[in-house]
Amino acid sequence: MEEKKITVTSPLMPSLDELNVCLKDIWNRKWLTNNGIYHQKLENALCGYLGVPYISLFTNGTLPLITALQAMHITGEVITTPFSFVATTHSLWWNGIKPVFADIDPVTCNLDPDRIEAAITPRTTAIMPVHVYGQPCDTVRIQEIADKYGLKVIYDAAHAFGVKVNGESVLNAGDMSTLSFHATKVYNTVEGGALIVHDEQTKKRIDYLKNFGFAGETTVVAPGINSKMDEIRAAYGLVNLKQVDKAVEARHHVADRYREALRDVPGIRFMEDTPGVSHNYSYFPVFIDEEKYGMSRDELYEKMKAHNVYGRRYFYPLISTFSTYRSLESASPDNLPVATRIAGQVICLPMYYGLTDEDVDRIVKLIA
Ligand SMILES: *Cc1c(COP(=O)(O)O)cnc(C)c1O
Repeated sequence: MEEKKITVTSPLMPSLDELNVCLKDIWNRKWLTNNGIYHQKLENALCGYLGVPYISLFTNGTLPLITALQAMHITGEVITTPFSFVATTHSLWWNGIKPVFADIDPVTCNLDPDRIEAAITPRTTAIMPVHVYGQPCDTVRIQEIADKYGLKVIYDAAHAFGVKVNGESVLNAGDMSTLSFHATKVYNTVEGGALIVHDEQTKKRIDYLKNFGFAGETTVVAPGINSKMDEIRAAYGLVNLKQVDKAVEARHHVADRYREALRDVPGIRFMEDTPGVSHNYSYFPVFIDEEKYGMSRDELYEKMKAHNVYGRRYFYPLISTFSTYRSLESASPDNLPVATRIAGQVICLPMYYGLTDEDVDRIVKLIA
C-alpha cells in the first residue's frame, strides 16, 4: 500500500462559515477594493497583532519590496544575501539596482554583518537582509553599519511574521520591513503581503504608491503601481488571523518533536530556539554533513520522495547561481563559501499546522 503523501507545507485556512458571513457582507456592500472596510480592519488588526505602528497591505510579498525601494529612491548598489527566495534580488533588478551578494553566517543563515561591511563601495545606498526561516538578523550590528555609512535598511521579513526579540517585533528594525502572506507562509491571505513603516507620513506615501500614485481624485503625486489588496482577501486574512497563535503553537510542538528525535543522529544539524526570541517555526531546516551522515542531502531528498515525503531544498540553488545574476563579481562561489556549502546541505522538513505526531514519526524514521 502506498504511504500517505506528506508535503513540505499545507496552507492555514480560515473557517469557511466565518468567511461566508464576511463574503455576504461584501456582496451587500459591493465595495470590492480601494481601501474598503475589510482592508482597513485587517491593517488595524495586524498592527495590533504584530506590534507595529503602521502597515500597508499589498497584493503579494514581492511588490512591497519593489515599492519600498521606489519610496526611498534607492539606486546604485544594494548589499543582499544569495541565500533567499529569488524575489529578494529580483526586486532590486526591477528597480535597476545592482545586487551585491555578501556571505552568510553558518549558524543563523542570515547575512554576516562583517561581510556586509566588507562589501560596501561608494555606490552602496542600502542593505537588504532577510530574516531567513524567521530567525532574526543581527539587527543591532546591521543598524550600526548602516548609520556609520549612511545606508538605508530594508528587511525582507517574509518569513518573520509575528517574530519578536525580547518582546519587540523584529519588523520594527531598519527603515522598512516587508511581509508575504502567500499560501505557503505561516499566515496567509491566499496571495498577499505588507510593508511595515515607522511613521504616518511614510505610510501615506506608500498608500499613494500602491494605488498608481493617486493622492486625491485628480492628483497623481508619483509614478505608482497597482498593488492593492482586495476586500475578499482582506476578509479571508481577518478571519485567518484568529488561528495564527494556535498554528504557531502546533508548529512549535512539531519542531520540538523533530529535535528530540534527531538530536543524536550523526551528521544532522538543526536550529535551536534563541533565548529571548519568540519564534514562529515557519520552517524546519536540517543540514546534512554527508561524511558523518553517510548520505548526501540530495540522496536523502530522493529517499524521502520515494517514501512519499516531500521536503524542499530551501534555499538551493543560491540566487547568485541563476543566469540573471551569475556574471556579477559578487556572485562568485569564492565570495560566498558559507552560503555555497549550506545550500548543498539544507533540506526543509514538512512543517505545517495539521502535521500529526504520526507524520513526524514517519519522517524521522526515514531520516534516522
Ligand atoms: C515568499 C517570499 C517572498 C515573496 O513573497 P510573495 O508573496 O510570494 O510575492 C519574498 N521573499 C522571501 C524570502 C520569501 O520567502
